[in-house]
Amino acid sequence: MLSINNLSVHYGKIWALKGIDMEISQGEIVCLIGANGAGKTTTLRTISGLVKPTDGTIRYKGMSIGNLEPPDIVRHGISHCPEGRQVFPRMTVMENLEMGAYTRKDRHKLTEDYQRVFDYFPILAERRWQLAGTLSGGEQQMLAIGRALMSRPQLLLLDEPSLGLAPFLMEKIFEIIQMINKEGVTILLIEQNAYQALTIAHRGYVMETGYISLSGSAKDLLHNEHVKKAYLGE
Ligand code: ATP
Repeated sequence: MLSINNLSVHYGKIWALKGIDMEISQGEIVCLIGANGAGKTTTLRTISGLVKPTDGTIRYKGMSIGNLEPPDIVRHGISHCPEGRQVFPRMTVMENLEMGAYTRKDRHKLTEDYQRVFDYFPILAERRWQLAGTLSGGEQQMLAIGRALMSRPQLLLLDEPSLGLAPFLMEKIFEIIQMINKEGVTILLIEQNAYQALTIAHRGYVMETGYISLSGSAKDLLHNEHVKKAYLGE
């Protein structure tokens, strides 16, 4: 579904991605783990068109998307839920969700999409007329995921969805990611919580300073000695 070849990204003189290769098949949950500054967020931002590659290719369903603008990439079925939630604080929950559908031509048909988000996150239905800035951190995270679903993505890019959440909410978010995947959405997930991520993922990539240092099935990575020491705290 997504095929990344020899992808490089520079921010001025900083070489953030140094020729990475990555494959994501339809239906998978793939996780990306690595230390701060390894290049995980840059990878997601490049796929969604927010950052332009300096070298290499990104192909989505066979089509080269490396130079498309973000709205076109959303229209092709890729949605990005950024790190740090980034909901629109002065808009209501409903307005935030509506913003997630801004690229859709059938915006008069959003009722079932709101309902789908509310089925995943019933608390958002209760708070639908509340300003997003007044929601708790966990609720804002749910809203950010819900907003990303409103474009009906086939590939969902999730950047640190569990960051800063209480443990019970973290578990819930991981359960919901699995539910979204079971309904047919392919997922690329960045997580600091490597254990949880590898538990729900099919495959994973480990990034270190702009390189992919390791990749494999989530099961193999969970048992890999380097991953255990560096990322699983064993
Ligand atoms: P984190 O978990 O901290 O977000 P990351 O693995 O997602 O880390 P990136 O945010 O992709 O890493 O950063 C990769 C490298 O690029 C780092 O050296 C970072 O300092 C640098 N970088 C990221 N964004 C910018 C930017 N807008 N301008 C300049 N350098 C940047």
